[in-house]
Amino acid sequence: SGAASSSGGGATPAAASQGLRLELRDVHFSYGPEGRQVVKGLSIEAAPGESIAIVGPSGSGKSTLLRLLVRLYDCNEGQVLLNGVDVRELRQVSLRAAVAVVPQDTVLFNDTVLHNVAYGAPGAPLSAVRAAASAAKLDAAIARMPAGWSTMVGERGLKLSGGEKQRVAIARAFLRRPRLLICDEATSALDTATERGIQASLRDLATGRTAVFVAHRLSTVQACDRIYVMSDGLVAEQGTHAELMAARGIYWDMWQLQRAE
Ligand code: ADP
Ligand code: MG
Repeated sequence: SGAASSSGGGATPAAASQGLRLELRDVHFSYGPEGRQVVKGLSIEAAPGESIAIVGPSGSGKSTLLRLLVRLYDCNEGQVLLNGVDVRELRQVSLRAAVAVVPQDTVLFNDTVLHNVAYGAPGAPLSAVRAAASAAKLDAAIARMPAGWSTMVGERGLKLSGGEKQRVAIARAFLRRPRLLICDEATSALDTATERGIQASLRDLATGRTAVFVAHRLSTVQACDRIYVMSDGLVAEQGTHAELMAARGIYWDMWQLQRAE
């Protein structure tokens, strides 16, 4: 859809090569020296520009895995690699510039939508935020919002609905031009009609980047290049939607149960 084409402000043309190669190799993690292992030898990968999905029951370690990617925690064993480089060798500032996260619950400041989007500018200290995000880049990010949203940019963030807050999170992420996009149940809290619209915007944002989608509703990640099914800190199954359905394993079960919902 040409979604990643440069629509103003940036000098870098967005191409498929913009995405980073992501690799987790035999990653182990526990939350403390006494804690039980939450991630128990996980290996996943995404080629540059690919979208992968991580699904699995609550508590299986999906969010923990995402925290290891952005170094909120470091793994105890194994490696997390971006373009072949261990994330522990990268400066925090470089990692932050390359990766954007869209969380389930977006926290907004008590300020306008426009300034809440600007807060997503990489490295911008809050006091200097208005100057930090160039007007052109902000306009490009706001332009990604659906028609009608241009009237919202002056609204205060705290008045927004859950779906509207996710629109702000997506515009924030777009402004950062990330090479790796991480979405942790970004639409799980929304009703299905709102979810559909937000998912379309997320796919648009993911075009030309590498993306990791943690999801509850399987229909939202069906089209991903590869789906990893996590169970108790491990990858239990992996493949495309068609492959996993044909295998009739956990993934197939999950579909049957969600159909009945
Ligand atoms: P998921 O995202 O798949 O629901 P999580 O990664 O949030 O799973 O959690 C995996 C396991 O780690 C759970 O047993 C959870 O209770 C535990 N856990 C999550 N966060 C912490 C934390 N900050 N400290 C200790 N244990 C945690
Ligand atoms: Mg989670």
